[in-house]
Amino acid sequence: ARTFFVGGNFKMNGSKESIKTIVENLNSSKLPANVEVVLCPPAPYLAYTAELNKQKTVQVGAQNSYTKESGAYTGEISPVEVKDCGAEWVILGHSERRGIFHESDEFVADKVAFAIEKGLKVILCIGESIDEKKAGSTLDVCERELAAVVKAVKKDDWQHIVVAYEPIWAIGTGLAATAADAQDIHSKIRDYLKSELGELADSVRILYGGSANGKNAPDFRDKPDVDGFLVGGASLKPEFVSIITSRE
Ligand code: 13P
Repeated sequence: ARTFFVGGNFKMNGSKESIKTIVENLNSSKLPANVEVVLCPPAPYLAYTAELNKQKTVQVGAQNSYTKESGAYTGEISPVEVKDCGAEWVILGHSERRGIFHESDEFVADKVAFAIEKGLKVILCIGESIDEKKAGSTLDVCERELAAVVKAVKKDDWQHIVVAYEPIWAIGTGLAATAADAQDIHSKIRDYLKSELGELADSVRILYGGSANGKNAPDFRDKPDVDGFLVGGASLKPEFVSIITSRE
């Protein structure tokens, strides 16, 4: 069985004060022992978040990392530095990185390979735009984004990758995919991974992301290929705990 996974992507939101409130709320909550939680604050707060956290099932992740360990790369984030801050995960390939910062499939894949080489685990985001959805190319887009990573990493590296299906039209819009639609595409994503990785694909978690919240999270509970959520806006609010406990 795949361990249920809930990631909180704070995006570029936070202050010491707001992050302290979020982490202390989690610290004082009774969290299920069988749910893996990863908090991804903005990079300046990685160490602070890791130091505040007292929950064994909660880990910390960055929102980006580069393909180099150190050097003259002003503004970039080294996966080794991320680890040094007490974080174990990194989100890569988020649609905001792909879109706003023009990250190609190949660049994302290189970052995934390097982060894993340096001992991080990766939340790999994929998903289609509204135009791609309308054109019927949802699965093509997901497969293309995954294929670049399949090519760049070793098969065994997939043990350290969690896939987050995040349709761009659902991100920050309040219009989440339905649980049935998410299950449909997640199972096709798994079929694709099976064709590339064989049985290993059964152990890869596939998260849903895009306007997931405390209210809709329970709708996904009977969907066998929805292995958790990657949460944006709602991860900044107390309802994040209801998402973590939505399978109880
Ligand atoms: P929202 O939950 O705010 O829609 O964001 C989803 C997301 O992009 C998580 O990475």
